[in-house]
Amino acid sequence: MTTYNFCAGPAMLPTEVMLQAQEEFINWHGRGCSIMEMSHRGKDFMAVAAKAEQDLRELMQIPAHYKVLFMHGGGRGQFAAVPLNLMQAGKTADYIVSGAWSKAAAEEALKFGAVKTQQIQHKVDGIRTLTAEKDWLINPNASYVHFCPNETVDGLEFTGVPETEVPLVADLSSTILSRPLDVSHYGVIYAGAQKNIGPSGLTVAIVREDLLPKASSNIPAILDYRLAAENDSMFNTPPTYAWYLAGLVFAWLKRQGGVEAMGKLNQQKADTLYGYIDQSDFYRNDVAPQYRSWMNVPFLLADERLNDLFVSEAENAGLLALKGHRMVGGMRASIYNAMPLAGVQTLVTFMQEFERVHG
Ligand SMILES: *Cc1c(COP(=O)(O)O)cnc(C)c1O
Repeated sequence: MTTYNFCAGPAMLPTEVMLQAQEEFINWHGRGCSIMEMSHRGKDFMAVAAKAEQDLRELMQIPAHYKVLFMHGGGRGQFAAVPLNLMQAGKTADYIVSGAWSKAAAEEALKFGAVKTQQIQHKVDGIRTLTAEKDWLINPNASYVHFCPNETVDGLEFTGVPETEVPLVADLSSTILSRPLDVSHYGVIYAGAQKNIGPSGLTVAIVREDLLPKASSNIPAILDYRLAAENDSMFNTPPTYAWYLAGLVFAWLKRQGGVEAMGKLNQQKADTLYGYIDQSDFYRNDVAPQYRSWMNVPFLLADERLNDLFVSEAENAGLLALKGHRMVGGMRASIYNAMPLAGVQTLVTFMQEFERVHG
């Protein structure tokens, strides 16, 4: 039976990538050992690492004055790294709170200095919506403004950026590489790998050079952007296997036609699923259409008592990990880059059948 894994993270990886990793697992390119058993400073791994960075730069068209850092610690590691590296004495940091993850980022930053939060998610007639970025209140003296363009738990996404001179810091953990984006708008972009890049354990941070800290006496070395940049992300042993696998994913993305092609496919996947939900009285999604996430689609059953049955029957049909986040309830289908259109179509067919039997 073909299975499709809708897990929010760690999420599915492209089958082609998994097969390549399997083939190379024990004896990488005839070297007699696995890539994960090699020195990170040896020329083989250095070449793998450099190729991964080069491919990511190409995919995202990252300008030369940005450093690409391969770090540890996931999204939450960056929740600490951002204030530690970017907060300036006597200035606040602005946090735009659009959902669960940006809220958690603001709470972490509060440990390190003055933080000003602005709540932008609200409900209008039972529909969850956001304040548009042109109406955000940004302090022109803030060290930076942090926001999360795709709220993985809430299923809310926005693509706009505010017009301000203050450096923009974006948590792209669950939307990086899913559609084109202009890196030059941002000061820092970061993403835990386990949603759209590769396995967990790796975090990518893209940092504009002028934002690298000048003095880093109080920054834990492992979270220090400057140290990471000066040492080509090898100040300490990087997560080599995750880095290698991310490289395979980047090469796969290039073969798919890059972020332009992924954007079209992701829109088609999202339209297919939301389109079906919207015409049904049995299922609903409560996010305003212009802020619906292309990556994480939460949906509710009209009769919540059927939730467990839905999840278990879906699993029997090979549709995995559809249980919603405990904060939102219902179901959630995460449909990142690696999820093929066929997976979404199979889900919709299952939903139709479930509605026919239980509706
Ligand atoms: C998953 C996620 C995180 C947390 O990532 P960890 O690697 O578990 O720390 C942070 N932000 C967003 C938007 C996420 O989706």
